[in-house]
This record gives sequence, structure tokens and C-alpha cells, in this order.
Amino acid sequence: MTRRVKRVVVSSGLREADIRPPALLSEFKRLSVQDALEFFGDASQLVEVPCPACDSGDSKTVFRKNEFFYRCCNACGSVYVSPRPSEEALQSYYANSRASLFRVQHYSRDTAKARRYHLLSSHAEWMGQIYDEVGNPDARGYADLNTCSPEIFDEIGAMKVFQPLLSVDPLLDPAGVSEVAVDIVGRDGLSGLGAISAFEKVEHQFSPEAYLRQVRDMLADGGLFFFTTRTISGFDLQILWSRTPYIFVPEHLNLLSVEGIGMLAERCDYELIELSTPGQLDLELVRHAAINDPSIKLPPFIAYLLEKRDQEAYWDFQEYLQKHRLSSHVRVVIKKK
Ligand SMILES: [Zn+2]
Repeated sequence: MTRRVKRVVVSSGLREADIRPPALLSEFKRLSVQDALEFFGDASQLVEVPCPACDSGDSKTVFRKNEFFYRCCNACGSVYVSPRPSEEALQSYYANSRASLFRVQHYSRDTAKARRYHLLSSHAEWMGQIYDEVGNPDARGYADLNTCSPEIFDEIGAMKVFQPLLSVDPLLDPAGVSEVAVDIVGRDGLSGLGAISAFEKVEHQFSPEAYLRQVRDMLADGGLFFFTTRTISGFDLQILWSRTPYIFVPEHLNLLSVEGIGMLAERCDYELIELSTPGQLDLELVRHAAINDPSIKLPPFIAYLLEKRDQEAYWDFQEYLQKHRLSSHVRVVIKKK
């Protein structure tokens, strides 16, 4: 990884419960796990894949979640589900499962306000700033893929940087939610865009490589792809590992490592502009997981830190995780070469 790649530290008092209320999350997870068995229960239909980040076939099974096996790549450390549901099976799942419907009807809407305040405004500011610094000034079109939070367009629209604004195959229809004009389009035939975003989508793609290449085709030369995802390099996932309660199939097929994300960008002919882990919740997530599941045994140091130190120590620790790219919420900017 080059030293020039940008990394940032942020703090906004974000709380896990604001963006993922426990009751909604546990219902969403319950439906996802049930639906996964229904849609992907036939093991003969699952497909073996190499590492989705670096393409290495050298891996070992590290844990199992509800009939699915997570493997760890020996080359880049990414963790991924293999064998996994096919592209077609995943499409059918997202179009027809109860979990998908629940996400649209409750999960996205009910948490919109908190997410807008905390996340969407900072996402928009982030994209505008990077575009100003390194974007292609002649390509001003912006698209968000499979929009879950149409409020992002209000935040983007207010900056008056991008035009037109496109929502590609939205999960939640921007009509009636966004106050600015948004065109709803399919992904076929799109090209020449200056910026594309995909928030928490890479982790459930059948092939992140195919996904990045598709996005590349939609971008102008020098166009930017902004995405957020979960990384296995992050503190909470490294500590909780197979006991992480909020990792499940098919939402999380790809938990790419920080190193793996860099390799993936390179393989797909992008320049890496930023790879940060501005997550603010790792320690809180670990604390909650341990409280809710007494069978989780935290390493003595972490247990001691949580028990004997105060909020200031937690913040300092979380800031350290952010600064050194050790939080599990990663945000990435890559530029089409
Ligand atoms: Zn790998």
C-alpha cells in the first residue's frame, strides 16, 4: 500500500443503537437466516469461489455460520463464504425474500433520521471534497447503486457539485423521500459518470471483482467509486471472529481485509485514493456482544480495558483503531485509471 493513500479519523458521537436499533437488527437477522436456508438450502447449488479480493485459491475454513462455511485467504487474509449461492440465486433472494422486504419497509425507513444526521451528511461531504481534490471536473454525473437511503440525494443535491443525480436500481424509491430531482435508472448502458457510490453493498456481491469492473464501465476516465463495507481487519471482527453476532449469510459473503481491498482495486485497474476505517463502534460492538452472549470470552486485556477504564480511554482506543486502519467499518475511494 502506498504511503500517499489517504486515511482519516472522525468522531461524531455515533452510537450503534442509533443506526442499528437492536430490535430491528435482530428481526432482520432472524428473517435473513431463515430465508437463506429456504433460498440456498440445497448445497449442490452452491458455488466454490477463490478469494474475492486477490483471487488466490489458497485458503482454509475458519468458521461456520448457519450451514455456510467462511474461509480465510492465506495470501491476503480476507474472509469469505465458499461455497456460496450463485449470482442468480442471490438476485432471486434480494427480489423475493422476506428479509429484503423487511429491510425496505422497516429497517431503512425507521433508522433514516439517525443515519441521515450521522452518516449521510458526512458521506456527502466526503464525496464532494474528494471529487474537488481529485475528480474529473468534466464528468459531473453522480449515481448511487441500489439506494437504501434516498436522503443521500438531498445531501448531495445541496452541495451543487453533481448533476444529474441517478439512483440505480434503488431498494428504496427516492420518489416522495428526496426533495431534489433524482432519475431512477437501471445499470445497463450507463457511462461517463464522475462519481458512483455503493454503501454497504460490496460485502454481499457474488463477485466483488465483477462488481468493480461493472462500475468501472459506468465511470468516465478519472471517475471515482466511493464505497463502504466491513473489513475482517477490524478490531471487533478480529476479537469476536466466529462469534460476531451481526455477520450472516447472505449479507456478508465478503469480509475483505484492508490489504485485500488494495489488491482488488489494483486488479480491476483502479488507483487507490483513500482507504480509511473511520468506524466508531468497534469497542462498543465488542462490549455489547460480550454482554449479550456470556459464552464469549474476551481476551483479558480487552475485558480489563472495558471494566476498569472510562469513556475517555475507549475514545482514545477507538481513535487509535481508526488512525491505524484497524476498525471494521471501511470506506474506500478508487479512481478509474
Ligand atoms: Zn486473498
